[in-house]
Amino acid sequence: KTSLPRRQFDVVVVGAGGAGMRCSLQLAEAGLSVAVLSKVFPTRSHTVAAQGGVSAALGNMSEDHWYWHMYDTVKGSDWLGDQDAIEFMCREAPHAVYELEHFGMPFDRNPDGTIYQRPFGGHTANHGEKPVQRACAAADRTGHAMLHTLYQRNVAARTNFFVEWMALDLLRNEEGDVLGVTALEMETGEIYVLEAKRTVLATGGAGRIWAASTNAFINTGDGLGMAARAGIPLQDMEFWQFHPTGVAGAGVLITEGVRGEGGILLNKDGERFMERYAPNLKDLAPRDFVSRSMDQEIKEGRGCGPDGSYVVLKLDHLGAETINKRLPSIREIAIKFANVDPIKDPIPVVPTIHYQMGGIPTNYYGQVTTLDAEGNTQIVKNLYAVGECAATNVHGANRLGTNSLLDLIVFGRAAGNHIVESRPDNEHAHQDIPEWSIEQSMDRVNRLESRTSGQRSQEVAEKIRQTMQAHCGVFRTLDLLKKGEELIEGLVPEVDEIYFQDKSKIFNTARVEALEVANMIEVARATTKSAANRTESRGAHALNDYPERDDENWLKHSVWFSEGSTL
Ligand code: FAD
Repeated sequence: KTSLPRRQFDVVVVGAGGAGMRCSLQLAEAGLSVAVLSKVFPTRSHTVAAQGGVSAALGNMSEDHWYWHMYDTVKGSDWLGDQDAIEFMCREAPHAVYELEHFGMPFDRNPDGTIYQRPFGGHTANHGEKPVQRACAAADRTGHAMLHTLYQRNVAARTNFFVEWMALDLLRNEEGDVLGVTALEMETGEIYVLEAKRTVLATGGAGRIWAASTNAFINTGDGLGMAARAGIPLQDMEFWQFHPTGVAGAGVLITEGVRGEGGILLNKDGERFMERYAPNLKDLAPRDFVSRSMDQEIKEGRGCGPDGSYVVLKLDHLGAETINKRLPSIREIAIKFANVDPIKDPIPVVPTIHYQMGGIPTNYYGQVTTLDAEGNTQIVKNLYAVGECAATNVHGANRLGTNSLLDLIVFGRAAGNHIVESRPDNEHAHQDIPEWSIEQSMDRVNRLESRTSGQRSQEVAEKIRQTMQAHCGVFRTLDLLKKGEELIEGLVPEVDEIYFQDKSKIFNTARVEALEVANMIEVARATTKSAANRTESRGAHALNDYPERDDENWLKHSVWFSEGSTL
């Protein structure tokens, strides 16, 4: 047997964001032994950055129903979302939010004590008639409040946290059943085998494969890389959401909650141009629509600034009191990153990469699925995926704002329940992990360690980011996508040449970065190949050569297999 140190758990959860911790809470409270791994301290996971809210048809401030929420989500997905999964999510939403409230999550309150809700893009009353107040908010720090609440509950439930541990690879047997992971303890540089009867991937998004992104630096798509290397397909990777309002030049997000509170987008002529594109919902149309409209304004010469490269978000008319009470972080962000105080001046904004709709395919218990040789869907035994890394198919081709935090808590909980019901603690022993599976993982680490020359990981990562930025934008063309696909493929050998000089074990961030780039390239490959393949426009995939939705040929998902990459 390889001499790596080993630990055994009923369940290993990779990721301590909202999805991972909602799942682990269910497991720990049921008495299972659970290890939650995170590259960063749990409350620094990316969920902490979520600003605007979590959706649920509570109807606290205006009439609302789960089936209106479902209608909006199906329509927002540009009809690609799985309607059963969406129904499940929207029906469960009020319960999931009240559960958070009972856990102690500090939501904002209405005068009558109920949870405060704000309007958000694409969320409507009576099937599109007008915007509805459905986003349950804790000021503009909803993710922060959620993550801290879930962390505290997990601590109380005695979840085992492995902080600053990086999962490297899934461990499997010949049948492809998953038996745990290899993981790097960053502090010591030791690599462990974590044996698990069930493994959950909750590694979040991968928005850092673009140069301008609202995502944290840790969002490098590790779970997707792990799945791809294990022969599991990635689904619908052509669909990436551009958030309409990233601060121009900085990428940092200005929540849609600003427009929910009454903020408006203006072009250089001071025109509220969204009235022209979406007369009913105006600035609160779905994100794909608003981003395309902004891009159009800029391309047609109505952008602001010396080079006409952005539009502006005006909110001074909301008044200082509302801004300070409901949007305090936004004011701070605007002052710090755009050098404007939104109480007086508008914020320069551009569409910025934000969210991945595709990912690791799952059913709505979070079980990961794959395709067999005949193209039939099969469940990958013992493996689950939840949160942004998963394609549970509730977002289809375009996610509605605030539906992601909802996705985390509904499907994190559902996956947890499904695992608990299968009672892994009653299964006697952990199955033997074949040596070849561990060796495969160690081989790639050893090759990286033993290289004596090559390129720095940051240089290769930057090439990936610039290629994605230039070739995979709001509007796409087949020529650009095909060129992007070629360039990304050309970077694969460069990833296999990454070298770092300092081989010390203790907290070697160069090693971590190199391992992350191997995941980034898998996500970039999946994205460019899937995007060049889909010859229609749907949701966030807007292709100039095929500007219409093509239901006859393309009302279907795409899957991409990495075919045994060993990077
Ligand atoms: P994350 O919270 O990203 O957590 C991922 C976890 O995985 C982390 O703990 C990380 O350390 C760990 N991890 C990753 N790789 C490894 C590895 N190899 N080994 C070990 N651990 C690993 N959505 C809404 O619904 N409403 C909003 O208001 C909203 N606002 C947003 C604002 C911003 C700025 C952004 C960028 C997104 C926003 N979103 C919002 C989207 C939403 O926040 C995310 O989709 C969601 O938080 C993702 O949660 P997650 O649990 O899947 O992953």
